Amino acid sequence: MQRIDIDGVPVFAASGPARTTAALVFGVGLRDETFATIEVTHLVEHLAMGALPRTHLRCNAVTDVDTTTFFATGRPEAVGAFLEGVCRALADLPTERMDLEVGVLQAESCGAPYSAMGALWAARFGLAGPGLVVADGPGPEYLTEEIVRAHARRWFVRGNAALWCSGPLPADLRLPLPAGLRPDRPVPPSRPQTGPVWTRGTGVGLLLTAGGAGDPALTMGVEVLKERLRDTARHARGLAYSVDSMALDLSADRREVAVVADAREGQEGEVAGLLWQAYAQLCESGPSAAELAHAVDGFAEELDADERAVVESELADAAYCAVGGLPFRPVQEVLGNWRTTGTEEVAAALRGTWTTAVLSVPEGAAYEGPGDPVERRWVCGVQAHLPEGRTFRPPALARLLSRENRVALVVGERGLASRDADGDVHAIPWELVEAALPTEDGRAVLVVGRNLCTVLVDEDRYGRRIVAALRDRVPAARWLPRPAAPAEGRPKAVPVGYANCP
Ligand SMILES: [Zn+2]
Repeated sequence: MQRIDIDGVPVFAASGPARTTAALVFGVGLRDETFATIEVTHLVEHLAMGALPRTHLRCNAVTDVDTTTFFATGRPEAVGAFLEGVCRALADLPTERMDLEVGVLQAESCGAPYSAMGALWAARFGLAGPGLVVADGPGPEYLTEEIVRAHARRWFVRGNAALWCSGPLPADLRLPLPAGLRPDRPVPPSRPQTGPVWTRGTGVGLLLTAGGAGDPALTMGVEVLKERLRDTARHARGLAYSVDSMALDLSADRREVAVVADAREGQEGEVAGLLWQAYAQLCESGPSAAELAHAVDGFAEELDADERAVVESELADAAYCAVGGLPFRPVQEVLGNWRTTGTEEVAAALRGTWTTAVLSVPEGAAYEGPGDPVERRWVCGVQAHLPEGRTFRPPALARLLSRENRVALVVGERGLASRDADGDVHAIPWELVEAALPTEDGRAVLVVGRNLCTVLVDEDRYGRRIVAALRDRVPAARWLPRPAAPAEGRPKAVPVGYANCP
């Protein structure tokens, strides 16, 4: 691998076949947005791609939770023209195309590739950083030209980019990005916990917090954990299709490792129980020497399988580390470290994650948690009682006529709270109010909390004074404008995709 510098952008290159594959990576993704600006990175990516001339080049772009990447494969000069075009477009976004691209984003229902991991991240961070993956946000039509340009200007700069290139490097390649340093990427605070917790989310998964990516012990422990779960849940009992993991490096010394299992319908609780059991046993007794040897063999075999794929994944890793400010280790060095890591180190690394463990079980699965000492964590800030404060209720007659109206809202000293018809209280401390979204008809405001609670403040139900009381408490910067009626032919935007407090 060769490392050079083009226009201030680090370039990782390796010779290869006559065709060139290249990827320009930026250290920005969904984790760098806020609830109000969800999809702004994706919109920047679309605007840049939309600015390029039509071509038969195989090219694409992806906005991920922590990176945004522009790819192309083809003749070197065509790939070079693509990369230069992307840089020029990012430096001066064609925002005159915004309406069009917003429409495309509204129509492009991006599924939820992260649903299981998103739920785990949200259980860790609430509606911030990677936890934003669980929310659709107010919608791209809320993004103004000013917001979009500021986002591009901050993140799509030389200091926050890296290129990897496999095959001939395009001659006279230019990467004319604006100057700028890699911005700070704060890690949002974790919800406090003193021991393992379990929660209801959208899939079966386990999330562990670890130190930096440099220590192979936890990675190896997770490999053994996956293997044990495959043995029990898949091979022995046929309850699951696949077991996967993903490491998200939030900084050089903070990694979130998610293990997710794809359970057969109706078997989610069972698989979650097996996942927890495998993890708890590994924490207690560690892996066997044979299990570690098997993990090392698996890794070595992967490196032998497809030379091109290994080279390209190593290039991609080098670029990823460069934009993430992470130390890069060549894959042979990593394998060498695996070979010298013993069972005790792996056991210690796993035990070190115990007080950060979050087990997730899908809503509705027949499972009531692993039991003591694993506490239940509610997805949002649900609590037992309404706090003190100014209390609003629907009129007495309405309360008598319908159970749905036996609700209450409190505007208190410390926050906003609502009691729903089931008696659950959802509370948002004022400092955790992420956004206040007026509805289209202007008669209600949806208050969205970073603790994943949402409260609908409806003046038809609670009277007009309640919105005024809310205005007194929520800073102007948190209020989003009232949406315009959707233009004809455009899909109507849903105010908040997050399925509100469960
Ligand atoms: Zn709630």
